[in-house]
Amino acid sequence: MKYKEVEPGFNVSPQLPPDRLAELASRGFRSVICNRPDGEEPGQPSAETMRAAAEAAGLQFTAIPVVGGAIGDADVARMAAALAELPRPILAYCRSGARSAKLWELAQDKNPPAQYDVVIVGGGSAGIASAASLLRRRPGLSIAIIEPSDVHYYQPGWTLVGAGVFTPEVTRRATATVIPDGCTWIRESAASFEPESNAVRLADGTRVKYRILVAAPGLKLDWDAIPGLSETLGKNGVTSNYRYDLAPYTYKLACELSSGRALFTQPPMPIKCAGAPQKAMYLSCDLWRRAGKLGNIDVQFHTAGAVLFGVAAYVPALNDYVQRYGITLNLESRLTAVDGNARVATFEHKGPDGAVAHTEQPFDMLHAVPPQLAPDFIRSSALAGASGFVEVDDATLQHARYPNVFGLGDACSAPNAKTAAAARKQAPVVAENALAVLDGAPPIAVYDGYGSCPLTVERGRIVLAEFGYGGKLLPSFPKWLIDGTRPSRAAWFLKDRILPALYWRGMLKGREWLAKPAHKPLVPSD
Ligand code: FAD
Repeated sequence: MKYKEVEPGFNVSPQLPPDRLAELASRGFRSVICNRPDGEEPGQPSAETMRAAAEAAGLQFTAIPVVGGAIGDADVARMAAALAELPRPILAYCRSGARSAKLWELAQDKNPPAQYDVVIVGGGSAGIASAASLLRRRPGLSIAIIEPSDVHYYQPGWTLVGAGVFTPEVTRRATATVIPDGCTWIRESAASFEPESNAVRLADGTRVKYRILVAAPGLKLDWDAIPGLSETLGKNGVTSNYRYDLAPYTYKLACELSSGRALFTQPPMPIKCAGAPQKAMYLSCDLWRRAGKLGNIDVQFHTAGAVLFGVAAYVPALNDYVQRYGITLNLESRLTAVDGNARVATFEHKGPDGAVAHTEQPFDMLHAVPPQLAPDFIRSSALAGASGFVEVDDATLQHARYPNVFGLGDACSAPNAKTAAAARKQAPVVAENALAVLDGAPPIAVYDGYGSCPLTVERGRIVLAEFGYGGKLLPSFPKWLIDGTRPSRAAWFLKDRILPALYWRGMLKGREWLAKPAHKPLVPSD
């Protein structure tokens, strides 16, 4: 079958026989446009025959017959409407495909894509913060935020929901209330990128054009990578603080468990908030300790990593809690399957001789964290680097190949700890550098890799990990106030009371508290 891609999601071909339409559907096509009048040549299948075959194959079908050299305004308007409305990918045909391509070209003027100074993909922590930081610097800027979800989440709060400290509701707000004034909210998913023509294609097929693109769609939680996990989440004692609706179940399970085995798992890096799998465990242990049940519960931590935490300075304090709670630490042990009904988890780990072994562990409670990767539409795009994430310069967050594209938050390739705290520091850097590029200048602001992980080791105390590239410690506070390497009450107060307000009223509003960007040293010119 011969067809030619005119743009992503739109293809043209010569006349097809009706019996090939099922094959077209099996290749993923969703719509067919016929641009031929009936009876152009002997043996030509009529539009009605083609419609019947298309519909039988599950394809949508529209006939917009035109004669070459006599294409009128009404034809072009109908083609433009079909291109906007039909699900993609679309195949349009005529005798050779040339008329369909011509009609597509004429229809482009009828449906000119909306154009903005800045288009931001993703209205999560990073996307909203960068929009707000851009507008603080240049209020007149035209910005569109592409975000399909009606709800915006403060995910760092889910750890405290899982411990019964926060109610779930305080971690969510309507997206409409966090979109900065003056931004256009495009309530759709981005489907693909056309960086050569400065355009983003939306899931509904329309295009949006930009002068600067900021890619911040977060990451993909790959629940299905662990067979049996998805179907048992929320029941059979299986939970995860990585989902809004499940964090309350963590607390319920911890409250109800009096004896038995509790498993907490951590997948390979990168994951968002690398400390969150442990935080769920320490807070559950603290609950059991206070209730006098801890001695009856076999608590196990299974991490795919070779160490308890990636930055050595914080490990001694965490190890103390592992000892204190009597937790069995299983390093390089990866959850590979869950049988919810039987309440059995399977782990893959290296034996002493280096050979890979599998063990089955019966459980009463399982807190599982899924593997995490770049979203599919990023991984398959021209923006992706080898890791699948948006390939950016670690310091300027400018794209490696497209200078007018920036990436930040969980979706970017920079090797920092993927946290909202990182996005808080990255957003002003992206704002300054994006404006520099808009003005024809090189990026000037630099990001030092800051990320933060408040490790809730017990209710009321936190080990506040704050570090940058290479594991360099980057504390925000003097040691007398918060020594991040030791459990501290002040750090708990920060997480419980200050950080949520800093998020909603500071970071998402472009008030760059604790987030002023550093700049490259000026190079003297001759
Ligand atoms: P997100 O906030 O996830 O936002 C991504 C947005 O992109 C979403 O709104 C999504 O709807 C949208 N999107 C997705 N696909 C598309 C598409 N195709 N088109 C358009 N939009 C799309 N961080 C901390 O700093 N401290 C903590 O203590 C902490 N604890 C955590 C605990 C848990 C349990 C979890 C899950 C996370 C925690 N984090 C913490 C991490 C933090 O929440 C994330 O790093 C942060 O939210 C990343 O921001 P983001 O904007 O990159 O991604």
